[in-house]
Amino acid sequence: MLGAIEAGGTKFVLAVGPSPDRITARHSLPTTTPTETLRAAADWFAAQGSVGALGIGTFGPAELDRKAANWGHITNTPKPGWQDCDMAGFFADALSAPVAFDTDVNAAAIAEAAVRPACGSLAYVTIGTGIGGGLVMRGEPVHGAGHPEMGHIVPRRHPADRDFPGICPHHGDCLEGLASGPAIHARWGCSLSQLPADHIAHEVIADYIAQACHSLFAIAAVEVIVLGGGVSKTPGLIDRIAARTREIGAGYLPGHARQRIEAPLHGDNAGIIGALMLAEHLA
Ligand code: ZN
Repeated sequence: MLGAIEAGGTKFVLAVGPSPDRITARHSLPTTTPTETLRAAADWFAAQGSVGALGIGTFGPAELDRKAANWGHITNTPKPGWQDCDMAGFFADALSAPVAFDTDVNAAAIAEAAVRPACGSLAYVTIGTGIGGGLVMRGEPVHGAGHPEMGHIVPRRHPADRDFPGICPHHGDCLEGLASGPAIHARWGCSLSQLPADHIAHEVIADYIAQACHSLFAIAAVEVIVLGGGVSKTPGLIDRIAARTREIGAGYLPGHARQRIEAPLHGDNAGIIGALMLAEHLA
């Protein structure tokens, strides 16, 4: 039996099953303190039977380098109590099972790439409470000096959005500071889907995310960008982003005819299915 955790800032999603496409039980827990949340998760797995391998897709920042002394730890997160939490070590001990550890968005990217067999390169970007992205090239998640932090690139400001300082505690008006759910709320007092379709907010947010998509196409030459998360579900937004990305690209990129922007085929399950796939690779 494989086990999986999609560890988010507000909740942990847990699942078990014999393979990534067959989840036999799932559960979710609020993310409170590490002691409470990790213990409750381990207890739930124990009640399901013996887990042969566990895959974790986590919020970050996290240490993914197997050679690092603090591999498997959450590192400098602003989330109180979670700094330097040894998540992988805790579950390896608690479940006596091998543990695979990656970001939630890399896990989601792995799952979305696997259901597009013709596609060798894919980015998964979630736009919700925060903005983060994972990248899969030739079936493998990309890690470099750390893991990608695509939410913190700095877009050119939209002419109708010059005054808002942005809400990122580190960079102010980075992509997450301008286009995440809380950034939308800070400007307009509600979510994007609550604003009428002709409200300027749709154009502004689509422009920022389109700049990120254009950058991904230009830097990594991915074939597909999958847009997940709550903000991406705003009716019409993905089409608007795709159109604006084409406009910015101006037909110049050599792969542009093959590059596309899509909703996740796995819906909200991409992360947990990807975490099961991480476990499957270990088993
Ligand atoms: Zn930032």
